[in-house]
Amino acid sequence: MTASSTVPKFGSLFGAARMLIDGEWVESASGSTFDVVDPGTGEVVAQAAEGTEADVDAAVQAARRAFEEQRWLRLSGAQRGVVLWRVADLIEANVEELARLESLDVGMPLAVSRAFMGEAANQFRYFAGLADKIHGRSLEIGPAERRFHAYTAKEPVGVAGLIVAWNSPLFGATMKLAPALAAGCSCVLKPSEEASLTPLALGGLLLEAGVPQGVVNVVTGFGPQVGAPLVAHGSVDKVSFTGSTQVGKQIVRAAAGNLKKVSLELGGKSAMIVLPDADLSQAVGELAMGIFMNSGQICTSGSRLLVHRNVFDEVVEGVAEFAKALKVGYSTDPVDLGPLVSQRQLDRVTEYVTGSVADGARVVCGGSRIGDEGYFFEPTVVADVDPSMSVVREEIFGPVLAAMSFTDVDEAVAAANDTEYGLAGSVWTRDVAAAHGIARRMRTGRVGINAHRAGGVQMPVGGYKQSGWGRENGTEAVEEYLETKSVVTLLDR
Ligand code: NAD
Repeated sequence: MTASSTVPKFGSLFGAARMLIDGEWVESASGSTFDVVDPGTGEVVAQAAEGTEADVDAAVQAARRAFEEQRWLRLSGAQRGVVLWRVADLIEANVEELARLESLDVGMPLAVSRAFMGEAANQFRYFAGLADKIHGRSLEIGPAERRFHAYTAKEPVGVAGLIVAWNSPLFGATMKLAPALAAGCSCVLKPSEEASLTPLALGGLLLEAGVPQGVVNVVTGFGPQVGAPLVAHGSVDKVSFTGSTQVGKQIVRAAAGNLKKVSLELGGKSAMIVLPDADLSQAVGELAMGIFMNSGQICTSGSRLLVHRNVFDEVVEGVAEFAKALKVGYSTDPVDLGPLVSQRQLDRVTEYVTGSVADGARVVCGGSRIGDEGYFFEPTVVADVDPSMSVVREEIFGPVLAAMSFTDVDEAVAAANDTEYGLAGSVWTRDVAAAHGIARRMRTGRVGINAHRAGGVQMPVGGYKQSGWGRENGTEAVEEYLETKSVVTLLDR
């Protein structure tokens, strides 16, 4: 593996360890910084400003002022759309720098980072187009002798605190920022401590595109020191959170103080159901990438494989062969998969695999760390698992697939739904009626048929059960940042 020494264009900013508050690049109030580590080498490559409650308060106050002064809201929806479209253009104009920065920060293969940048631009284009289509409805109500003209108005919820995970840091941030800005909100973005760089770069591009000062603020740092005070802050009207179900529950409790609105994009343990008539020549590679893409560090990863017993061995062996052929290595080399994001994540994945073996599971392929530099882990398939094992029940967030067989569709659906999560899933068959029947019965926010995780900004995503509240993407996303007001006027008859 070879490490790249490319210095990203945005690098000077991060060397200075600043964050974005009220349109200014400032150090943290404490002056503290923390290490940015390249997960491909384990080396420190930059410093980020370590925010605290004081920085959060400054950012929230800046966002509140920007909102009350209507710096952004005074623009028409169409004018806001023009600015948001410009953000998409700027992301595309800087795609190479952004992708390299993201790969350096989280280890994602460069080609995957570039693809995520394209998706990030799509977010801004979609919500740019929606910004002038946010409207209520009008109607006439009341009995004949006392009629009213009535209408609803959609208004921005106010100051939105946006907390994101590290697994696709820039794209994850745009999934919140683009609809929040289309709605007219002011925002405080808190990136993951594992991935500060591209969210900061995005802050710069938003200013360059013409988003007024203070409308978007970016505060870097750790969950308890930055995320928690943001969620608890009395001047924040709404929190949108992407992260683990465990922290999501803390968010709900912490938001209770001023009963701020909350939406949550949380964890998953998604099932891929393969019926015996599936086109296996097409399915096997896609099933493998359904779990292994981004080294399994995607909320919608298909981490449970449920295969009809007649084709179980063929499918599991096919996925294992595909896994063994995947190239794992440094992000700027021509690889399929990069490292896990951190030593912590590497330890976590290792423990799940060794724990499953101790429980009696069989490792079909993979199962070990690769090398001793960086946080690389082999794409892994385990079989002979039972539904009580933690490798089957818990989200690992790594390249680990648990394979189980079933004998009929009812058993497959019951197994797929036997989880506290409900984020995604897929069904693989040539039988259209069976596919749609299973899609209906899966208790998840999204289902792929002969595809896992297919979709786009147009399609809402989110969780059933403990995978979350609310939706991102689609027109549903903008609703998460709007209030509805009813106005009723007595008619003169
Ligand atoms: P995490 O829950 O540890 O952290 C997420 C974010 O919350 C980070 O920015 C972190 O600093 C912050 N945070 C931590 N403690 C906090 C607190 N007490 N108050 C406020 N903020 C706090 O998750 P992670 O390890 O960064 O990401 C992996 C998880 O995210 C997985 O569970 C994955 O499924 C989930 N995820 C979900 C989606 C989705 O759309 N459903 C997308 C990506 C990731």
